[in-house]
Amino acid sequence: MLPKLIAFDLDYTLWDLWIDTHVTGPLRRSGDAVVDAHGTVIEFYPDVAGILRRLRDEGVLLAACSRTHAPDLARQALQLLRVPGAEASEAGPAIGMFDNLQIYPGSKLAHFRALHAVTGVPYEQMLFFDDEPRNREVERLGVTFHLTPTGVDNAVFDAGVRTWAVRRTKS
Ligand SMILES: [Mg+2]
Repeated sequence: MLPKLIAFDLDYTLWDLWIDTHVTGPLRRSGDAVVDAHGTVIEFYPDVAGILRRLRDEGVLLAACSRTHAPDLARQALQLLRVPGAEASEAGPAIGMFDNLQIYPGSKLAHFRALHAVTGVPYEQMLFFDDEPRNREVERLGVTFHLTPTGVDNAVFDAGVRTWAVRRTKS
């Protein structure tokens, strides 16, 4: 059982840096890696690409919700990072995995209100992974929040889905 929509923060949730302070544009691919102007490597945590691929194949709507001050760089990174293709087809841009991007500074309540308005998905059918406790405020809307202090991996992801599923059976 999976929620209809799963949203991910970006910095320290999907990758190991702050895109607005640790990275200098332009970004580019160098071999299999994505690097910034100084050669800093930008990459997803190891399990992330597989998780995105699986969710996409399951028909779950995917969103990125970030309050970064560098939305253009974040989008560039998602454009350059690769995710395995469906049924062993070629890898494609990670950005293509996401149905919706909410990337701009400010309270994530705004990000989730916008997501709800665009997708029509009820808040109770949304699960959000984020490394910052302050963003738990989205639970006021009915979204299930799962804290990811060390980023997303398969175990953290499964734990988040369990939290969401338990709440749904109680309500
Ligand atoms: Mg973060």
